[in-house]
Amino acid sequence: MKYLTIIIGLLIALSNSPKKEADLIITNANVLGIDNVIIENCCIVVEKGKIAAVGDSESILKQYDAKNFYDAKSAYVYPGFNDAHCHFFGYAFNLAQYVDLKDTGSIDEIIEILKEYDKKYSPVFICGRGWDQNNWQIKDMPDWSKLNAEFPDKPVFLLRVDGHAALCNKKSFEMAELTERSVVAGGEIKLINGEPTGLLIDNAIELVSAIIPEPGIPQMSEALLQAQDTCLKYGITSLTDAGLGKNEIKLINFLQKTGKLKIRINAMLNPSDDNFDFLKNKFSETELLKVVSVKLYADGALGSRGACLLKEYSDDSGNKGLIITDYEDLRKICKYAYENNLQVCTHCIGDSANRVMLDIYSEFLKYGNDRRWRIEHAQVVNDDDIGKFSQYSVIPSVQSTHATSDMDWAGIRLGDQRIKDAYRTKELLEQNGWLPNGTDFPVENINPVETFYASVFREDKSGFPDGGFLPDQKLNREQALMSITYWPAKACFDEKVKGKIEPGMYADFVFMDINILDCKKEDILKSKVLSVWINGEAELVVH
Ligand SMILES: [Zn+2]
Repeated sequence: MKYLTIIIGLLIALSNSPKKEADLIITNANVLGIDNVIIENCCIVVEKGKIAAVGDSESILKQYDAKNFYDAKSAYVYPGFNDAHCHFFGYAFNLAQYVDLKDTGSIDEIIEILKEYDKKYSPVFICGRGWDQNNWQIKDMPDWSKLNAEFPDKPVFLLRVDGHAALCNKKSFEMAELTERSVVAGGEIKLINGEPTGLLIDNAIELVSAIIPEPGIPQMSEALLQAQDTCLKYGITSLTDAGLGKNEIKLINFLQKTGKLKIRINAMLNPSDDNFDFLKNKFSETELLKVVSVKLYADGALGSRGACLLKEYSDDSGNKGLIITDYEDLRKICKYAYENNLQVCTHCIGDSANRVMLDIYSEFLKYGNDRRWRIEHAQVVNDDDIGKFSQYSVIPSVQSTHATSDMDWAGIRLGDQRIKDAYRTKELLEQNGWLPNGTDFPVENINPVETFYASVFREDKSGFPDGGFLPDQKLNREQALMSITYWPAKACFDEKVKGKIEPGMYADFVFMDINILDCKKEDILKSKVLSVWINGEAELVVH
């Protein structure tokens, strides 16, 4: 009887205990739970930018009160998307350096856009990209006459949509010391009646592009914020930039500290003494910025036959591609990284490049290590090498949309047999049981839902090919979702704070209109991001 009184007393005390006060309670949310199932009608409690509690509405509202409430209106709530490998700064650089001329209809329209741009920014060099005379009424290739008349004293450089031609003005030719007599291998300075027209083709483009000064800090800052807006639009709250120098990192850090750049960035460091020195002595990690890895390049790309293969290209006899960084340098940097507790992330496309790097890694890494050294792309991996990923705990970092973008010509480069060694997404996942996924934007589109779709269906956006390209390598929906949320976080040692909706994690979310794990296939690419949250604050709300 005595005990019963105590228990009843305790229960009364508990039921009367004051509610805990939080910063925010998100109500009426369909939340991705730990077991990758959507739990309906949940509340998420946010305190100091982190998740304090998640649970069914009734029990949460009994325990918590908050200064702010947000009704999710049955939206599906996922951890903020995380791009495991992209070029955020490079994308912003393109925005800053080039005026967008993509949907222009004539040279006159281009000139109007350039005049306005010149008035606004007064750059020393006017650069544009994206024009395509096939979309114009007059479909002949343009010449420089109108540009010369409008911009006699300021250099102009306008890249065609495919990057294989550029229209310049006379001033830029003068500055680059180009004449009709200049010659370049693999390129052409277009002449009519022996006179230059301002058009440069292929390798000749570099004769002018090489003298263009880089955009200044104000332009880059604006472009980085613009790049952030695009990322937020697609639900990205975190990303890994695959290769930055100290000055780029400093600018990102500065913009994050002003409160304008809110997206979380993991920067892979380009290897140089200067950059290593900066990391050692002058950089301290923040909640928004970390630098824990060094980026190396073993080879080039498959499309341009720069990827290094064990045997010659099927469509280019005698050519195996090249290892582009000296073998001893690769080893030296790996040794430095190992001794200084840095992660190594190496770009490897061809089967030879993958073998070279896996073997160098294995010299340093022991079995079952937790250093998470990465191979970026891991695009063509020979059967004799694939087991080395699990043997040395090397993390493959893939881009599912590369498979569906390359599928039309990859088999021609590699041949019927070797193509089976390419884009081995599922087998790579099985190596360590997890796999970070990215877009490599601006190479591919920024949208992580396209990565999800390509991972699950191995089809392009038009649904081709029916049944999928190399369909044995499909991921299931849960794996595909983890590959754009939790696993990219784990790939940069952030798994305790990012990628799941659990207490202790950052309150970074993306609210969507579909249950991506259990909706019709055709609804996936039509899905909408409703709002995006970083640190428990809505950075973007779509009405
Ligand atoms: Zn890349």
